[in-house]
Amino acid sequence: MPIAEKDVKWVEPPKLGLFDYLYVPAVVTGLMTTARHMFQKPVTQQYPEQEPDLPPNYRGVHRLNRDEQGRVKCVACYMCATACPAHCIDIVAAPSPWPDREKYPETFVIDELRCIYCGMCEEACPVDAIELTSLYDLTGLSREEMIFDKEKLLSVYDQTKNSPKDPVRTSAGRLSVASEPPRETPKAS
Ligand code: SF4
Ligand code: SF4
Repeated sequence: MPIAEKDVKWVEPPKLGLFDYLYVPAVVTGLMTTARHMFQKPVTQQYPEQEPDLPPNYRGVHRLNRDEQGRVKCVACYMCATACPAHCIDIVAAPSPWPDREKYPETFVIDELRCIYCGMCEEACPVDAIELTSLYDLTGLSREEMIFDKEKLLSVYDQTKNSPKDPVRTSAGRLSVASEPPRETPKAS
C-alpha cells in the first residue's frame, strides 16, 4: 500500500559551508586519527613474517597420541565421532592386537576441511587419545591432502609432543585415568 503524501517527511541535507566544500574538516579529522595511531602499539600481527601470538587454549590441527609403548592410545570407542558436530571423524574399529584393550582403530580419519575446531572430540575422549594442537598453518594443494589418516595424525603427535606449546595432557603416557584400574581409596582414620 503506497504511503500517503501527508505521512512523508522530507529531510533536507544540512547546508555546507566553504570549509565543508573543501573537505578540510574531514581531512583534518582523518589526519588526526592517523597521527593518533602512529604513537599506539600496533595490534596487527605481521604474519607470516612473525609467528602469531596464540592464546594457550588455541585449537589447531588434531593429533592422535601414543602410549608409552608407542602404540596409538585410541581404543576405538567412537565417543569423539559421536560428539563431533561436523561429522568429520570416521573410524573403523578392529579387535585389538594388544591384551590391554578390546579394540583399536584400524583406520582413523579426520576431514580437517570439514572440522570446525570446536574441541568436542578432545572433550569426549575417555583416554585422552585425541588432542588439538597449536599448529595453525594448515595448508594443502588438494582436498585429499586435508583428510588426515591415522598415520598422519600420529605423525602430528610425533611432531608436537616435545613442544612446550603442546604438552601431552596425560600422565606418563599411560592410557589415562579412564582406562586405568581404580585406585584404592585411603581408609578414613
Ligand atoms: S574439533 Fe569439533 S568439529 Fe573438529 S573433529 Fe573435533 S569435534 Fe569434530
Ligand atoms: S574418543 Fe578417543 S578413544 Fe574413543 S574413538 Fe575417539 S580418539 Fe579413540
